Amino acid sequence: MTRLPILMYHRVGTPPVGSKLADLWVSPDELQAQLGYLKAGGWSPMLFSELRKVLASGHPFPPKPILVTFDDGYANNYETGFPILKRLGVKAGIFLVHETMGRHNAWHDPAGEPWVPMMSLSQAREMQDSGLVDFGSHTMRHPRLTRVSLEEARWEIEESRRRLEKDLGREISAFAYPYGAGAKDEKLRALVRGAGYAFDFGTRPGATRLPWAFESGAFRRLLVPGGAPLWRFKLSLALEPWRP
Ligand SMILES: [Zn+2]
Repeated sequence: MTRLPILMYHRVGTPPVGSKLADLWVSPDELQAQLGYLKAGGWSPMLFSELRKVLASGHPFPPKPILVTFDDGYANNYETGFPILKRLGVKAGIFLVHETMGRHNAWHDPAGEPWVPMMSLSQAREMQDSGLVDFGSHTMRHPRLTRVSLEEARWEIEESRRRLEKDLGREISAFAYPYGAGAKDEKLRALVRGAGYAFDFGTRPGATRLPWAFESGAFRRLLVPGGAPLWRFKLSLALEPWRP
């Protein structure tokens, strides 16, 4: 049976003093080693647009398919992560929080998690133009969708897609739930599907079985924590954590 592992990253670099989410920072050396391992091992990192085409056409997946995803759209993804993607020729997908672009991670309380810059639209466009990166939506403002009204959730889901398509000039087919909240909620998933997204991503660990259909549930992902040794990364790709 084919499985589709999907890696989940957030930030690339060194955590700022006071960060309580330090394990969401992966160092450039770690990212380089992990993506280099994928490359050397014959994995095929896919863009969202490529996944969309394969799912829509029923054509076979490339050998050892995998998605490398980054949540939130931090400027360090562009400044530090993008050069590594280019050096290795690895494709990746980034989930943007539309209202925070060119600003900062305003959904975090800066008392507990320092604000850092988010990538600008021009940085996103440059990454898209490279052919190595494409984008999905991570809402307008990064709310926990299970804790806002359905009307507000609808706006977060629909408006972000509309604006990203306008700003980037491409179809946006991927949606990731902030905090993974809503990935198992049928009403919210129906809003995502109704808004025109082709697939959705949660944070539940594991790999997704192929073939996949929307009814199969949101894609699972594997959080790659900062500071973990490379052997753990290799092991997680090879073994048990991928089991549903
Ligand atoms: Zn997020």
